[in-house]
Amino acid sequence: MDFRDSPREAAFRAEARAFLEAHKPARWEHPFAEDVDEHALLAGSKAWQRTLFENGWGAILWPKEYGGRGVGPIEAIIWNQELDRLGLGESIFVVGTAMAGPTIIAHGTPEQKARFLEPLARGDEIWCQLFSEPGAGSDLAALSARAIRDGDHWVVTGQKTWCSGAHYADWGILLVRSDPSVPKHKGITYLLVDMKSPGIEIRPLKQMSGGSHFNDVFLNEVRIPDANRLGPEHFGWQGAMTTLLNERMALGGTSGFFSFDALAEHARAHKERIDGVTRDQLARLYVWNKALDLLNARVVTKLGRGQIPDAESSVMKLALGRILTLGGDLGLRVAGPDALLRRGPWQHSFLTAPSLHIAGGTDEIQKNLVAERVLGLPREARSDRDVPFEALPKA
Ligand SMILES: Cc1cc2nc3c(=O)[nH]c(=O)nc-3n(C[C@H](O)[C@H](O)[C@H](O)COP(=O)(O)OP(=O)(O)OC[C@H]3O[C@@H](n4cnc5c(N)ncnc54)[C@H](O)[C@@H]3O)c2cc1C
Repeated sequence: MDFRDSPREAAFRAEARAFLEAHKPARWEHPFAEDVDEHALLAGSKAWQRTLFENGWGAILWPKEYGGRGVGPIEAIIWNQELDRLGLGESIFVVGTAMAGPTIIAHGTPEQKARFLEPLARGDEIWCQLFSEPGAGSDLAALSARAIRDGDHWVVTGQKTWCSGAHYADWGILLVRSDPSVPKHKGITYLLVDMKSPGIEIRPLKQMSGGSHFNDVFLNEVRIPDANRLGPEHFGWQGAMTTLLNERMALGGTSGFFSFDALAEHARAHKERIDGVTRDQLARLYVWNKALDLLNARVVTKLGRGQIPDAESSVMKLALGRILTLGGDLGLRVAGPDALLRRGPWQHSFLTAPSLHIAGGTDEIQKNLVAERVLGLPREARSDRDVPFEALPKA
């Protein structure tokens, strides 16, 4: 494993850092803060995304012909690390630039690419992801939002849930059941939906952290032009895989969710509350955090050698969830009774940590992947792969 940047990587890091230092926004609304001012968030994020785009940093993994920088995954990790360094790692454009955009590039028609890619990368249009449903999360192919073809439109009825940012999104990437007579992975179609379409109702979900960043989205006979179908009819699963793979790649290297240095500073400021148990837990957390850094270095090294990381992302996701949970616990313990009196970053970490064990694939799903790919255990038995969707038992 090589921990140092190669000369090429070091040059890229210096270029990225110089750009960010010179252009970083004076004021930055954290997208998932409990008390975020959404008006300021949208205005600030759009202005920042436009600056990034105009300087070739708007969607760095995209090919240059679509307004990207055409760099590889190692540079994307370095870029994410540099954004994290300045606290700019989380963006309301991530669904657009990291998920919708690459899927449109891979599966879109020339007209779709011309219509959607530039406004997306320039920050003019915000995208959300309408994949999960109350009965389809870990088993996404069980989705049941129904799409019926009507001339040159699709008429969609169903419910999507957990949709981050849907309440301010302009467009959504949407998976629908277009043919229930074939097995579940086969009868899915991938559509691009205008979030202002008649028949869309968005209801924010209140989180225990106090914020409302996620939504239930109800689709009631929403008419979507067939021109907004991404990829062939009933073969949307391939597009879904493209979206999810790109999501993982773009998120590689982000550690902005947790800063051990900030926790250590918090602990030093409250020395009177550091007993033997807390000291022990802090040391444990330090070790876990270092282990995560090493895993990240392993992924970067593999990518640098032209290899594809496999189960590392599952192990990293599991480690990140644990680190955030223990970090939030310790932050509160160090704050002592003050933790009850006012809201602050440690309360936020504590209340947000559980979601990291679910979002982007739950802990149990990651463990299944590790069991299969690292330990070589047999795949989970599936009896539903070849059964028509309409014949499957429904909850
Ligand atoms: C913060 C956050 C943001 C999100 N944003 C979006 C978004 O923008 N758009 C979107 O479409 N979705 C989004 N999601 C949804 C997310 O993808 C799902 O929550 C996730 O895939 C889990 O699905 P589920 O909630 O339906 O849980 P389920 O799949 O119902 O799982 C319930 C429990 O059963 C366990 N389980 C399920 N299957 C297995 C198995 N085979 N083996 C062992 N255990 C199993 C799970 O681990 C879990 O503990 C978001 C979720 C979170 C938490």
